[in-house]
Formats: sequence, structure tokens, C-alpha cells
Amino acid sequence: MAPIITNLSDLRATLARWQSEHDGVVDSATTINLKHLLWLAPIGVVLTALHVLILGWSLLSGTYQGVTLTWARALFTAHSSMCLAMILLTVAARRLDPTRPTRWGHRLPVAAVAVCLLFAVMIVTIDQWVTPNITPFFIGCLLTSLLFYVRPLQSGALYLSATVACLFAMGLTQSTPEQLFSNRLNGFTVGLLAWGLQFVMWRNYTTITRQQHQLEQLNANLTGKQAELERLARNDMLTGLPNRLAATERLRTEFVSMKRSQSVYAVLMMDIDFFKRVNDTHGHAVGDQVLQRVAKSLRALLRESDFAARFGGEEFLALLPTTDMPAALQVAEKLRQAVASSPDPIAGPITLSIGLSMATPDQVDEDTAVGEADDALYRAKREGRNRVQLASEAVEQVEARDAVPAKLLQLVWRSKYESGNQTIDLQHRGLFRRVNKVLLAALNGLPAQELIALVDVFNAEVVQHFQDEEAIITQAGYPQALEHAVSHQALINKATSLTKRVRAGEVSVDDLFQFLAHDVVARHMLTADCEFFPYLQRSERTPTSV
Ligand code: GH3
Ligand code: MG
Ligand code: MG
Repeated sequence: MAPIITNLSDLRATLARWQSEHDGVVDSATTINLKHLLWLAPIGVVLTALHVLILGWSLLSGTYQGVTLTWARALFTAHSSMCLAMILLTVAARRLDPTRPTRWGHRLPVAAVAVCLLFAVMIVTIDQWVTPNITPFFIGCLLTSLLFYVRPLQSGALYLSATVACLFAMGLTQSTPEQLFSNRLNGFTVGLLAWGLQFVMWRNYTTITRQQHQLEQLNANLTGKQAELERLARNDMLTGLPNRLAATERLRTEFVSMKRSQSVYAVLMMDIDFFKRVNDTHGHAVGDQVLQRVAKSLRALLRESDFAARFGGEEFLALLPTTDMPAALQVAEKLRQAVASSPDPIAGPITLSIGLSMATPDQVDEDTAVGEADDALYRAKREGRNRVQLASEAVEQVEARDAVPAKLLQLVWRSKYESGNQTIDLQHRGLFRRVNKVLLAALNGLPAQELIALVDVFNAEVVQHFQDEEAIITQAGYPQALEHAVSHQALINKATSLTKRVRAGEVSVDDLFQFLAHDVVARHMLTADCEFFPYLQRSERTPTSV
């Protein structure tokens, strides 16, 4: 007993599953049916109209006599009725939207199948007067089951009714009992096979459509997942800021659009000062919290059109599109101050060092400005941290913007100042230019921040130059190389203390002139340096303008 119960409940479960599967595809099946009906019904009209014409002509010309006349008249009536039915079906199908099936949309194809089967029964019944075959019923059943999708219960009812009607109606016109028996047997088989075929067609359609829906669903899920993965690949989990990959991509697009629009953008490289100490003292969790706080400040202070990313461990990058250097400097200073003035509850004061550079259309690629900002950041660290440093190229923009017409206080390079060593001469000429810039800026009363930036660049270049020069003269065998290095150190010490005073706003143009033009240029470069000129082998001459 138990297996039967199990089988019965299995069967019930299968039927319930089919029921819900069928409910899920009935709309799309109707859409296909209505589309089929849109071209099948007019074909039906043409075919039946042709029959009407041929039969009508035959009847008028008196071809038929006796039973064949009855047969022809009946056929004429049947085809006329079917032609009318097909016209009605054509009109009805055209009035319905196949893509949005309504209640009538679902009913119409079923009605069309019913009409076709009824027509097949009529023709087969009429044909029995003159022939024993049941081909019309066979064709009607076959075509309807191949061309329309009908739910199994409905199709069962349709083919059962048609078969019963066929078996009964043939008895009215087929007088030979053996023929009638044979035709009834065949008609029953055809009806049964047509229903079976319709059932298989419907189940296949259901399965394929369901799988198609599942694939679409999977596809949609995959697309969603892919979007999520792309978001994760470009986002920093800890701070929620775009990560380095996103920054690299944004740098590229920003650079390309700048090349097109010729509108410069600023690059800020920011690094948290002494961050390792935060980790070492308070642990990584607190370090992470500090990173999140800094990221939050960047998000809050930068404009929607700006871009901020976590570039490395405790290093951030910001891009400020269509922003010139003075405006970018203000933004950088605002960021620096905001971070410095909001200490972390656990780690205490946090400061940022910032390197600022400008991306300009003359640059080769997007990395140039990033490299310059990085160099400026390195200088900011060297100069004591918690400060903004401008890239030297950005400083030139200040100078270009504020160039004074007067050529007062300009140092002019002369060929007699050349030592014969290309590196030293190039650097000397560069220092002349820097001195001119600083003096012009001081004379113009440029904002303190910009003046400080210029002095910082000058200092950095002086330090670099001194290092290179010491190496060159030592190698050239200059006997006073050591003393010369000591005089360099004295100048560096003086520059450091002067820079401190510039920051404190205690330096006048006179002081600057005294140090730059007198101490560095006149007494050192043009006097002390001349001592080692004979020791340097003369090398290739370089251009002479400053
Ligand atoms: P400086 O002022 O010269 O930049 O010094 P610093 O200590 O900030 O620089 P350093 O490069 O020596 O140290 C950076 C530290 O940042 C080291 C690394 O362990 C830490 N760090 C990098 N990524 C993370 C992170 O995701 N979470 C935490 N908590 N620490 C990180
Ligand atoms: Mg750091
Ligand atoms: Mg770092």
C-alpha cells in the first residue's frame, strides 16, 4: 500500500509542479500563438476562399449530380463558413497586442484551434459521402498541435471533443459499416496522437522557456555581481575611498580631457606624518581609525568634482580639476589645517604633509605631475612635515602669473661665470633663475605661503647643487674641497634659519637680497667657486641666457 501512496503523492507533486510551471509560461505561449494566428488566419482566408471559388464554379457549371452534388454543396457551405470564421479570426487577432496578452488574447488561439478542428470534422464527415479516407481530420489535428501551444487540460478537452464529434458525425454519412469502423478507429488514434503531440510540444516549450528564464536570471545576477566586483576592485575597503587602480584610471582620463580642454588640474599627494608611531603605540586598529578619519576629512572638504583616493598605505592622492595653482594651494592648506586641528581621540594630533603640483598640457603623460607632487611631498617631509610644498614647476606658474614689468633686482648670467663643468654650470644658471624668482616674489608682496614655497624650492635646489658640486670638485682633485664643503654647510645653516624667519614673517626684501644675491651668488658662486675652476676640465658649453 505504501509505495502506491508514495507514487500517488509523487504524481500529485509532479502535477502541482507542472501547474505552476505552466502558469509561468502561459503569457509567452499566448504571445507566440497570437503571432502565429496573425499570419495563419489570412492564409486560411485565402485557402478557403479558393475552395469556395472552385466549388462555386463547379456547382454553377453543373459538374456534379446526385450524391456528389450534395457533397459539393455541403463542402461549399463548409468552406464559406470557414472563410468567414477565418476573416473574423484575422480581424480579432489584429486588434490584440501579442506582447501583452489579455483574457481575450488567451482565449482567441484556443478558439482558433476549436474552429479548425470543427472544420476538419465537418470536412471529413462530408467527405464520407464520396470517399472513405479521414485525411482532413488528420491534417487538422496535426497542424493545430504543431502550430499552437495549448495547455494540456484544454488541449485534452479540445481533441477529445473533436474526436468524439468526428466518430459520431461520420456515422451520419458513412454507410459502409466496415469503413465506418475502420475510420472511427483511425480517427480515435489520430485524436489521441494529436493530443499526445500537443502535450509534448507544450512540455518542451515550458522546459525551454523556464530554462531561458533561469539563464536570464543568472545572467542578471552575474551582471550585478560583476558590477559589484568592479566596485570592490576599485574601492578601498577600509576608507571607502577609490583605491590606487581607480586613481590610475582617473589620472588617465583627467589627463586626456585636460589635453583636450587645455584646462589644468592640480595633483595633491598627502602622507600622514609619523604614522608608523600611531600603529606602534596604539595598535593597528587605532591606525586604521586614523586612516578612516583622514579619508572622511578629505571627502568632506573636497568638492564633488574633485577626486580623492587612497594611493598607498597612509598616502592619499587628490585631483582638483580645472583648478589653478593658487586655488589648489588654498585647498591643500585647508586640508592640512583641518587634519591638524582635529586630533584623534586616541592617537592624538595627526598631521599631513602635502606635495602639490600642476598638470599642464605640455606634460608628456599623467605621471609627470604625480612624480612632481611626490617630490614636493618628499621635500615637505624633509622640511619638517605638517606642511604643503609646491612642485618647482608649479612655483614657476606663480612667477609667470605675477611677473613684474620692472627688471629691478634681476641677476644676469654671463659666460665668464662658467666653470667648464656642465653639471655645475647648469645648476648655477638654475640657481640664478631661482634667486630672480624669489626676489621678484618678495618685491611683489606675494602671499607668504607662495613666498615660502619659492624659498623652499630654492633651498632644495641649493642643497642638491652643493652635494653634486662637492662630488665633482673632490673627483677633480681640488685641494680645498673639504673647506669648500664647510662653506656650503654654513650657507645651508644660514638658509635654514632664514627660512624659519620667512615663515615667521620676519624677513624683509633687503634680508632676502642680502642672503641670496650677496652671500650665495656674489660671495660664494662668483668668488669662492672660481677657485676650483682651473681644476675642472672644460666640457661642452651650454646656452647662456637665464
Ligand atoms: P613619515 O612621516 O615619514 O611618513 O613616517 P611614517 O611613519 O608615516 O611612514 P612610514 O612609511 O615609515 O610608515 C607608514 C606606516 O603605515 C607603516 C605601515 O605599517 C602603516 N600602514 C600602511 N597601511 C596601513 C593600514 O592599512 N592600516 C594601518 N593601521 N597601518 C598601515
Ligand atoms: Mg607617513
Ligand atoms: Mg608613506
